[in-house]
Amino acid sequence: MAAVLSRDELEHMADTLHELLEALHEELADELNEIEHVRHLLKRHAHGQGDRQATLEVARRLNLEHMRHHLESIASCNQALERINRGRFGRCRCCGEAIELNRLRADPLIDTCLSCQS
Ligand SMILES: [Zn+2]
Repeated sequence: MAAVLSRDELEHMADTLHELLEALHEELADELNEIEHVRHLLKRHAHGQGDRQATLEVARRLNLEHMRHHLESIASCNQALERINRGRFGRCRCCGEAIELNRLRADPLIDTCLSCQS
């Protein structure tokens, strides 16, 4: 089996993945801060203080689906980096064939070829 990606390209992919990981971690940290904020506001309510409307507003901004999605993306990033380390990057997880390069370049997190995707 011929190499799927050049070394330079693999390194570039790894850089991209590290940047993505960093961005995802920052987003998660922000989201955790928001939750902390809501907890703080709720605690004030327990003591009869604070603006109920404002608390609802902050709580409404919390999006657990987003957080779950961010967590899953972080896991996918780490798996892709591990595939790079093991020399398995760019190979389909199911059939072992080379994943289409244009798809891989568009999304380095992809781990199946087109025919195995569905
Ligand atoms: Zn496949």
